[in-house]
Amino acid sequence: MPDPNGSVRIGVYSCHCGTNIAATVDVQALAEYAASLPNVVVSRAYKYMCSEPGQDLIRQDIREHQLNRIVVASCSPHLHEHTFRTALKVGGLNPYFFHMVNIREQASWVHTDKAQGTKKAKDLVRAAVRRVAWHEALETSRVAIHPDVLVVGGGIAGIHAALTLANAGKHVYLVEKDATIGGHMAKFDKTFPTLDCAACILTPKMSAVRAHPNITLWTLSEVTRVDGYVGNYKVSVLRHPRYVDEDLCAGCLECLDACVYKQAKVPDAFNFGLSNRKPIYIPFPQAVPQVPVVDPETCIQFKSGKCKKTCIEACGERHAINLAAQPTEERIEVGTVILATGFQTFDAARVPYYGYGTYPNVYTALEVERLVNASGPTGGEVILRDGRKPLTVGIVHCVGSRDENTHRWCSRVCCMYSLKLAHLIKEHTGAEIFNFYIDIRTPGKGFEEFYQKLLNERVHFIRGRVAEVTEWELDPSEAGKLVIRVEDTLAGFVRRIPVDMVVLATGLEPRADAQEVRRLFNISCGAEGFFLERHPKLAPVSTFTEGVFLAGCCQAPKDIPDTVAQAGAAAAEALALIDAGYVETEPNTAHVMEEICGGCKTCISMCPYHAISFLGEIHKSRVNQALCKGCGTCVVACPTGAMRQNLFEDQEIFEEIEGILTNA
Ligand SMILES: Cc1cc2nc3c(=O)[nH]c(=O)nc-3n(C[C@H](O)[C@H](O)[C@H](O)COP(=O)(O)OP(=O)(O)OC[C@H]3O[C@@H](n4cnc5c(N)ncnc54)[C@H](O)[C@@H]3O)c2cc1C
Repeated sequence: MPDPNGSVRIGVYSCHCGTNIAATVDVQALAEYAASLPNVVVSRAYKYMCSEPGQDLIRQDIREHQLNRIVVASCSPHLHEHTFRTALKVGGLNPYFFHMVNIREQASWVHTDKAQGTKKAKDLVRAAVRRVAWHEALETSRVAIHPDVLVVGGGIAGIHAALTLANAGKHVYLVEKDATIGGHMAKFDKTFPTLDCAACILTPKMSAVRAHPNITLWTLSEVTRVDGYVGNYKVSVLRHPRYVDEDLCAGCLECLDACVYKQAKVPDAFNFGLSNRKPIYIPFPQAVPQVPVVDPETCIQFKSGKCKKTCIEACGERHAINLAAQPTEERIEVGTVILATGFQTFDAARVPYYGYGTYPNVYTALEVERLVNASGPTGGEVILRDGRKPLTVGIVHCVGSRDENTHRWCSRVCCMYSLKLAHLIKEHTGAEIFNFYIDIRTPGKGFEEFYQKLLNERVHFIRGRVAEVTEWELDPSEAGKLVIRVEDTLAGFVRRIPVDMVVLATGLEPRADAQEVRRLFNISCGAEGFFLERHPKLAPVSTFTEGVFLAGCCQAPKDIPDTVAQAGAAAAEALALIDAGYVETEPNTAHVMEEICGGCKTCISMCPYHAISFLGEIHKSRVNQALCKGCGTCVVACPTGAMRQNLFEDQEIFEEIEGILTNA
């Protein structure tokens, strides 16, 4: 590394950021101090360095004062490092002759005392001035983008993203774990707040997916391995057998009638066990693909090998049924990925005081979605497990949400779907309905009006968290009823309300396999377990892994309109990458000094991005620059010091440390 002494001309720019920084850091004093540091030719304070005039200052000074290194003391590099590097580039300087000092998070926001905040800012700037002198010119490199896209999850998010991309002429692989696409929305009868029929708006999109020439749909499939990097992902997909060939099946469903199980005996997962199905079945009437699936766990042929195989006979000349089918593996190459793996609902059995699983007439909201559905287990009749029609119903809000003992977050959709279910149950049964709520949250378009509609329908609202649900005990007039005990926080006393049916509005939580998916795609999860976006405001559908985007409830609970909007945004981000044709990769990557590499391979096992390979012929490690994320793990682990990293060279770091410690 060259010793830059003598040739270095540094410009330092200190930002007020309104009062964000200036309230706790004396920015003018900081600029004056920076001017006194060695090699600093220009030092300025400015209100908003990220603004056009702020960037202009840098560009002009580079030309007028022949500056060859720049330090900006302002906010987080996450926000504006790119802005300032671009300013250097436009000003004619290599963008990596730059260092950014975060005096907002590291000085102003963590100090209340201005003198202390200013001192810390001075220390940080002094260190940056020493460091930047050793920066070298670096170049970005370009990686070509494969135009195909992988969408994981075929709920409304995945469906919308896949169709948007396919309509734009891109080839999409849509991988769905279940036997059909549709996700949770396929289970609903109506959707809030408009009460439009869920199937009427969802099933045309499901059929469009199946028919689209640009979409390859793989159901009963899961991603098992992902290699590569943005623009060039190599993905393995395991396809479980359906035992009915999708290309040969005509969808006549005669095999279902022919099955030796004359009675459906297997609890139907799509209806949460509220009805039964046969071992060969179709998940629901509008399922896509419209092809039966055989369940090997319950099919007699799989269990004993002694079935008459009447399904195969019924299929006749088509020969679509193949009970000997085996799993297959597909290997695909894609440039970008959209994760749309959705959510699961909170397990109501975790709060035993609400009686789910103990009292048959306590239901979850999803079960009631199936009960009110015309294609559900009761044909749309709301009938209790004991055969009665409920005359009184209690809907308990926030089950597993907004609770220190379960999940602290608000699941965003439960208030609205509880109002929807209250309306639908009343419409189907005429029952008296009680909603037990903590707060009613209706902040969407048309939501407040929907709440008002429910009030006009004389649905009761009682403010208070339900303490417990028990069976009736002494009063014969309450025979067969469930008793809800709640502290009515508006009236100020504890109430007992006997009802025929209890509906638990269970919250939304990350899927049980979210961590597995996170690991596969090398992304992060937030503290609550949902996939983490790159920036909550400025990059809400991107992840920290380039080319991997998020859509729908896998990122956080949200309703269908927000899910669709996010899926469209994710598709647009993928399209933007594909149409650009390439991405520029940052040069802050690791590299091997081959002359001192001992070939011990320690770096290979340490690299979390599988970016390092071993060249057997020369017995040295080599870093794939496109895969390397610049985390520095290999640099620290390398016993000979052969592993180096651009922008984190030893001399740069030592100078920075010296700068901090030397109190000038
Ligand atoms: C009871 C209830 C009622 C609701 N009612 C309404 C309403 O009326 N209006 C409204 O706007 N919103 C409503 N919502 C919210 C709505 O369900 C969500 O907004 C919507 O389902 C989110 O869609 P999604 O595609 O993100 O997730 P999901 O619907 O969960 O779909 C995810 C899909 O990904 C698949 N998948 C998961 N993991 C993998 C994997 N590893 N590989 C491949 N595939 C995978 C799943 O099988 C599923 O098909 C309700 C929610 C609940 C719980």
